[in-house]
This record gives sequence, C-alpha cells and structure tokens, in this order.
Amino acid sequence: MLQISDIASLRAWRTARREAGERVGLVPTMGALHEGHLALVDAARARADAVVMSIFINPLQFGPGEDFQRYPRDLARDRALAGARGVAALFTPGVAAMYPPGSETRVVPGATAERWEGSVRPGHFAGVLTVVAKLLHLVEPEVAVFGQKDIQQATLIRRMVQDLDINVELIVAPTVRESDGLALSSRNAYLDSTQRQQALALNRSLRAADAAWRSGIDDLVAIEAVMREQFRVASGVTVDYIAIVDRENLAPVDHLTRGTIIAVAGRIGSTRLIDNHVLGSEFR
Ligand code: AMP
Repeated sequence: MLQISDIASLRAWRTARREAGERVGLVPTMGALHEGHLALVDAARARADAVVMSIFINPLQFGPGEDFQRYPRDLARDRALAGARGVAALFTPGVAAMYPPGSETRVVPGATAERWEGSVRPGHFAGVLTVVAKLLHLVEPEVAVFGQKDIQQATLIRRMVQDLDINVELIVAPTVRESDGLALSSRNAYLDSTQRQQALALNRSLRAADAAWRSGIDDLVAIEAVMREQFRVASGVTVDYIAIVDRENLAPVDHLTRGTIIAVAGRIGSTRLIDNHVLGSEFR
C-alpha cells in the first residue's frame, strides 16, 4: 500500500489509475480505524479496481470545546489495517496541505444541516462538506463510500453531490455493530467499562422503537416514550435528541412507516455518541 501525504502525488497516482483504465473508489475517514471503516473499504473494492482511503482529522468540522485535540490517532495501526484490507493508497495529508494559509472558501449546506447534529454542532456540516468536496475533487473517484452510522452526513453529502453536479456514485454502507449492538465508533475508545454498558441504551432504544412499531404502535409520542424508557433504565446517557424523520430530507414525520429513520444522539460523560435505524430494516 502506498502512503501519500501531498496533493501533487495524489493527483499523479490518480492520473496513473485513469491511464491504466482503473476505476477508483474513495473511503474518507478520520482514522482510528475499526471494522465499520473497513467494511466501507470492502464495499468500495467491490465496485472499484483501486481504493484510496483518506485519513484526515478535519479541524473544520470540530467546534470549540469538542474533541479535536484528543481525537484518537494511531497511524501505524491504521496503516496496517488498511493495507491488510486491500487499500491501494492511503492519503494522509496534514492540515497545511488541505487548508494552506489563505484558504477561506467553504461549502455552505442548506437547511437539512441545521437540524439534529447541526443544531448541537453548529458549523459541523459546513466543515464536513468542505473537506468531502475537496477529497472528491482531488481523487475524482468513480465511487465514494460513506457509513449509514452518520446518516445526516450521508444525506447532506448526497445533496451536495446533486446540487454541485459532482460526478460520483455514492454508496451508503450499513452500520457495523459490536455483538451486543453498540455501533462501532472511534469515540467508543473514550468510554470506561460502566459507560460502555450505559452506551448500549442508544441501540436498545432503537430496537425498542422498532419492536413497538412492529407490534402496531405508530404514534410518535408513544414511540419516543418507549425509547426514553431505555435511557431511563440505563441511566448515564443525556439524550441530545430523538429524531423520527423522513429518509430523504430528515424532516420530522407525523407518523411512522417502513423506511422512517429514527436517529438518536446522547452524551455519556464528555463522550458524544450517535446511532440510527431505518424502521423495518434488520439489525445486523
Ligand atoms: P469517521 O472516521 O468516524 O469520520 O468515519 C468515516 C466513515 O466511516 C464515515 O462515512 C462513517 O459514517 C463511517 N463509519 C463510522 N462508523 C461506522 C460504523 N460503525 N459502520 C459503518 N460505517 C461507519
């Protein structure tokens, strides 16, 4: 596996792939890789000849007081995992390569970014879309893969790709979970063993909502109560939001149906976790 840190070399690698007639897949990450990230690589490899994974902890998407400084970093481990999974090129730019002095242009998301994560993390999605737009332009991949775990991010990226006529196929891959249901996240590393148990309430609340809906309850207030009960039982999790929303635009719905998305976010100590479920889909 090739490791590339500068933009000129990345472009040269990309040009060589094109000249060899190869399709390129892009998997953007912030590193601290886990099986969720590696499943995105599998999905990209299924659709492309060469996969480039980026590892870049994007300062633009962290707000003041968030975990930019302490975000887990272990490049040697990431490199081994990515190489073993068949990544062809690992793009690891520094902040100065992505945002050289004088850089000031940003992608401005629309109203979908104001809700949910955006309301708790102002400016977050402008940062995400800006870095993703840059990566899409740098790599010009045929296909780019994102995780369902960050459903609002995936929705906004899809919107951006349409709105800005970016020529790429987007794949959203299912959330990979621990055997007890906890969604894999680089931020799980912050949890101590008690918090790790408490964190299960996110997934349990989604399962409880799905079970209640399957048993015939489609009233929003009742479903939210079923979910909040899971958080009450687990304790330790401060719920930021429970969002019961339309799959396309993440706007609140007035009744639940198959395909409705339920998204939750909560804080355990200083760790913020998110999870979501498409109603009627299977938990993996
Ligand atoms: P991150 O490094 O956390 O910014 O995530 C990089 C990519 O991996 C994003 O597209 C995420 O949605 C995706 N991702 C993170 N966790 C998971 C997971 N548990 N399952 C599937 N995809 C994930």
